[in-house]
Amino acid sequence: MKSVNKFQADDGRTAYCFPVRSFPGLISNIYVIDDGNQLILVDCASGIGSANDELVAGFAALSEAYNRSISLSDIGTILITHGHIDHFGGLPFVRQHTDAAVGIHLLDRRVISNHAERLLFSSRRLENFLTSAGVSEKYQQSLMNMYLFSKNLYSSMPVQFLLEEGTPAPGGIEVFHVPGHCPGQVCLKMGDLLFTADHILSRTTPHQAPESITNNMGLGHYLDSLTKIQRVAGVRLGLGGHEDPIVDVAGRAEEIKQVHLERLEKILGICQTPKSIADISRDLFGKVESYHVLLALEETGAHVEYLYQRGELAAANLDEIERNSQPVVEYVAT
Ligand SMILES: [Zn+2]
Ligand SMILES: [Zn+2]
Repeated sequence: MKSVNKFQADDGRTAYCFPVRSFPGLISNIYVIDDGNQLILVDCASGIGSANDELVAGFAALSEAYNRSISLSDIGTILITHGHIDHFGGLPFVRQHTDAAVGIHLLDRRVISNHAERLLFSSRRLENFLTSAGVSEKYQQSLMNMYLFSKNLYSSMPVQFLLEEGTPAPGGIEVFHVPGHCPGQVCLKMGDLLFTADHILSRTTPHQAPESITNNMGLGHYLDSLTKIQRVAGVRLGLGGHEDPIVDVAGRAEEIKQVHLERLEKILGICQTPKSIADISRDLFGKVESYHVLLALEETGAHVEYLYQRGELAAANLDEIERNSQPVVEYVAT
């Protein structure tokens, strides 16, 4: 039997949480909100492997905790916190059991509703990024296969409504748009509980990728969005999309900022001599394997882009960039 945690907001509404394994090594937190009127599902895991079975098992455990029978068919509304597969991939399965309306932020809507087209565009931009980062063509192919594997399994679904800042979501839930980790990333506030999704996590610093791959991602947006959440008053507890509840959300946001500021400093140190993004990534993260190589390259790319945009890094090999239509860019601290 899955463990179910219960969180009580100061306005009387309740959120239940249970874990679902989205990928090997990645547990997603699934939240079910009881607003007194209806049940609201926040995120629905990856839909991959046994994730859908675990979702059903989570509802069985919830029934025990509730002392009445509850299933996916009792869900009245589905809120998706952002357009990453470990949060929306289970949608086609969930929608087989309920016709509950699905809501997501405008900037991530096409990930759900125009999935194949969006994947094609983002793949092209990712390939361009890997080329300029100095990743060989052969290795790029294996990284792209990993990138596409889980995402190719999803098929597009319509979105019924949008999560917009300033307009309460169903259940009177307050929406904060916090781009960076994902273009349409939102945090959701219910009383003194803040669903931080993947914007703020209790242990890891949420993944960053350059804006050159997807607009409205990127470290600049992300750091601004951390400041935005630090200023939200009346938050007693943060509930992340992964990992543990966050007792001090503003303090955790500050810790995450510091990690990024240190990484930026480190990169300026590494780039005392010209380096490609692949070189910098190896210096920063050492030897990593499989999907983590792609994550390390994207993370590095986000930081290099941030420094380049602000004139703290410059391209060291302009002649080559001028001659070659697909150059590897070497960066040097200014
Ligand atoms: Zn995410
Ligand atoms: Zn996630």
